Amino acid sequence: MTELLTDNQDTKILIVDDTPANISLLTEMLQLKGYQILAANDGQRGIKIATHLLPDLILLDIMMPDMNGYETCQILKSQEQTRNIPVVFISAKSEIEDVLMGFSVGGADYINKPFHEEEVYARIKSLISVQQLNKQLSHSETELKTVLQKYQQQADRLEKIVSHIDNAILEVDAQGNIEFVNPAVSQLFDYNITELEGMNLLQLLAEPFAGEYKQCLLEPGRIEEKQFSSILVKRKDGCEFPVDFSLITLPADEPRYLAIFHDISIHKNREEKLKDLSYHDSLTKLSNRRRFDEFFHKEWRRSLRNRKPLAFIMIDIDNFKLFNDTYGHKQGDDCLVTIASTIRNTIKRPGDMVARLGGEEFVVLLPDTDREGVMQIAEQIRKAVEKQEIPHYSSARGIVTISLGIAISMDNNCDSTEQLYKNADQALYQSKKTGKNRYTVFE
Ligand SMILES: [Mg+2]
Repeated sequence: MTELLTDNQDTKILIVDDTPANISLLTEMLQLKGYQILAANDGQRGIKIATHLLPDLILLDIMMPDMNGYETCQILKSQEQTRNIPVVFISAKSEIEDVLMGFSVGGADYINKPFHEEEVYARIKSLISVQQLNKQLSHSETELKTVLQKYQQQADRLEKIVSHIDNAILEVDAQGNIEFVNPAVSQLFDYNITELEGMNLLQLLAEPFAGEYKQCLLEPGRIEEKQFSSILVKRKDGCEFPVDFSLITLPADEPRYLAIFHDISIHKNREEKLKDLSYHDSLTKLSNRRRFDEFFHKEWRRSLRNRKPLAFIMIDIDNFKLFNDTYGHKQGDDCLVTIASTIRNTIKRPGDMVARLGGEEFVVLLPDTDREGVMQIAEQIRKAVEKQEIPHYSSARGIVTISLGIAISMDNNCDSTEQLYKNADQALYQSKKTGKNRYTVFE
């Protein structure tokens, strides 16, 4: 008995009846079982109490003035707050129509007056336990909904991140078959998403990387995460470009991987561009003094080591100051560009170098070239420039010409690169002095 009292003490039952004696009787009976009792003597008050205090069960009389039990029940069932509270009709009306009417307006049970205490109690108890189970169920359902909602939000967030991220992300199976790609993959490799989903990861990699990763993929469980920097991948058009590449094992029953590509070609291009800028003359695109000095010292040491001649030609445009004064600096620049490309086009061997050291001063370095060879080349260059017939009305010939000075390092005749440079400079001076548009070999 004590146990029952404890069980029921949190359970509220609302009794709605216009006969005070009925209320008293039921109250006494149910209080003995430990229930908390609320009471109302008409339908309106019953609805008010039910709405505010939310009882666990309502015992409802049918025959009441103003609003009868059926009407009261209908209103309770139409309100969100009270819809789920079970309503038990208690009535002297015992015709089958009355009972059916009770159920049809939403009643959960129907008890005839006069009633047996134990029967009333048994029915109440069973309805309340069903009600409590329902409450638990709906609570779990709400909890489940919240959890699902949370997961959904998390998934939505992840999807947004993955679809907006610049890195190309692919999910592949153990054979490398592509199962998911983010939009960046499509942009990077120029395939559309449908094409990609029928492809294998290895098709995106250039050799020898494809072969290397094939092994990785075919030995599942061998990798947790593998990172490779600066590997080559290929676009749909076959064009190859560098990326950083990570392969990560995903937590799943079957082996699966996440492949992430980070495009570094922009970075690489910038690096190469900077290097290019620092080594080239921006006007003529020839190598600049810095590049030339490095090359000169390298070739100098090599010529000594191999006991081979190293030929050096210094070139200066004749009367260039006069040219600039006559035609202006813009024309002067155009002239420099023409002369530069003319010299470069004359020098055919890949091991030779043409550089612009500044102003109208050009140099040509010819490894492993003897006196005869360098004289031939110097004359070719001189003729080639002459053939351009760049007008220069202020000069004696009416066209732009060049003077050349040649020095050759051979059989230890020269101490240093500086010496070779000086010798060529002196030969050039000689060419200028003896009428220009010619070459002189330093003796
Ligand atoms: Mg009544």
